Amino acid sequence: MKRRVLVTGSSRGIGKAIALELAKSGFDIAVHFRSNREAAETVAREIEALGRSAWLLGFDVADRAGAVAAIEQDIEANGAYYGVVCNAGIHRDAAFPALTGEEWDEVVNVNLNGFFNVTQPTVMPMVRARKGGRIVVLSSVAGIMGNRGQVNYSATKAALIGATKSLAIELASRQITVNCVAPGVIETDMVDDVEMDRIKHLIPAGRMGRAEEVAGLVAYLFSDSAAYITRQVISVNGGMA
Ligand code: NDP
Repeated sequence: MKRRVLVTGSSRGIGKAIALELAKSGFDIAVHFRSNREAAETVAREIEALGRSAWLLGFDVADRAGAVAAIEQDIEANGAYYGVVCNAGIHRDAAFPALTGEEWDEVVNVNLNGFFNVTQPTVMPMVRARKGGRIVVLSSVAGIMGNRGQVNYSATKAALIGATKSLAIELASRQITVNCVAPGVIETDMVDDVEMDRIKHLIPAGRMGRAEEVAGLVAYLFSDSAAYITRQVISVNGGMA
């Protein structure tokens, strides 16, 4: 049986690692991107080399009408998703007194509204397909503990935990699990400007994590073995908290 999974923001970073790991587990993948089509095409080719199907979906998760149109079109043409990974996210860091309204709104629109814009049109088709399913949402250690300079980002990542837990309750009887994965500091473009020497003492493991180390957990949550794990927040952070 073919099982299709949408991974938002899978053109690079953690999303790319998740897309490849899920393909290795036997899923067909909608490789989603916003701006970098070329990078998404490369990911799709890597998935095809693993023997699975991959296709591209390009839209801004903050654009509700655009997201809904692209997702509905894909579902109508190819059927419901078995799962969704809400991975696309941004940060716009500043000490709170210097944080602008634009920086607040942009992060809320992408990280939090993006979750609604993507999951809302996918859920009912998943329920109607009656095959169970998986929703995994990328939160962050910042959403659990807070982080200096990330009031906006932490707010959205904490809100996603509440949204995940409530949706998990609504969907549990449909055999659709909904969980958050909360990474610590993972080596991707997003943490390009992080000075490791300054934060190393906060990470008991003494190093950044790798995107593959987050992807391994997501693949496990997508496995049949994880069917009874729902409404949880699972951290991958080298022992930060
Ligand atoms: P990257 O910056 O490396 O990649 C972000 C991805 O999201 C890209 O594929 C990008 O697409 C996509 N994206 C960004 N904005 C939008 C948008 N408005 N609409 C559609 N797609 C968008 O991030 P990471 O891989 O590091 O992070 C992935 C997730 O993990 C995020 O939710 C992040 O908050 C979370 N996380 C990351 C941590 C880290 O240390 N790296 C720690 C904790 C959580 P494009 O390439 O087209 O721009």
